Amino acid sequence: MLQQLTPHTFFMAHNHDTDRPALGLIAGEHASLVVDSGNSPAHARSFLQGVSSLGVAAPRYLALTHWHWDHVFGAPEMGLITLANRRTQPHLLRMAGYTWDDDALARRVAQGEEIAFCAENIQKEFGAQRAIAVQGADILFDETLTVELGGLTCQLIHLGGEHSEDSTAVYCPQEGVLFLGDGLCQEMFHGAWSYDLADYRARIDKIKDLPCRFYVNSHWEVQNADEFAAYSQRLISLGELAGESTDPADTLERYRRAHGCDPDEETEGDLLSFVYGNRKRQAKESGRQ
Ligand SMILES: [Zn+2]
Repeated sequence: MLQQLTPHTFFMAHNHDTDRPALGLIAGEHASLVVDSGNSPAHARSFLQGVSSLGVAAPRYLALTHWHWDHVFGAPEMGLITLANRRTQPHLLRMAGYTWDDDALARRVAQGEEIAFCAENIQKEFGAQRAIAVQGADILFDETLTVELGGLTCQLIHLGGEHSEDSTAVYCPQEGVLFLGDGLCQEMFHGAWSYDLADYRARIDKIKDLPCRFYVNSHWEVQNADEFAAYSQRLISLGELAGESTDPADTLERYRRAHGCDPDEETEGDLLSFVYGNRKRQAKESGRQ
């Protein structure tokens, strides 16, 4: 089931059970563009069934927000002209040569090429029979790509950042909708999930001048402009409070002094994400000296 955001944009909500991300649709007069292909052929089929009942122009393009499995495993099932950042392609071609049975997943987790969170969700989404195919994209871009859909345009904008260097946002200026993929998420492939404040700010700076009514993050609820501004400002404030600290206890004490209470669970998690980000950055810096 797709939900309508604006007259010409729709999305299918995310589902944490098997880490299915939200998928988007921008429907022009002549063609529609799909944002992300889903985490399996079944996910892609369920999305396309929802699209067919909308009575909009048929999907012609698929824009991939980044290479992570949950965004690309549905692409062969969709069979659309696939658009991706140039940085996404080597990852797709690398994964096209992988096998996905339990042994192969366990080996890649042990080697640090994959994380247990993704391996577990792949096992849950596909069950024991895993016919997984990954294919390269058809059209590649470096920083931006504009797609004409008839009466509407889409802009693919390279966001980059610590979650995935190839992160791409999909913007529809006429509708004021920005599909962010995981572009504002934490770094999650090297130890504790973390934020680097400078990196987060750089990502926000790239999108802050785009007029938007709605922001669609792949694994969170849709946010309107006020909710998005409050959310990102809150994260930045937590990052500023953490400062350069690499000590969770010291940072939590700083929070208590500033706010006169303990942080709630979500706030504590976000605050400590910046502490872990500081640890990773300092480890990297000392490795360079
Ligand atoms: Zn991701």
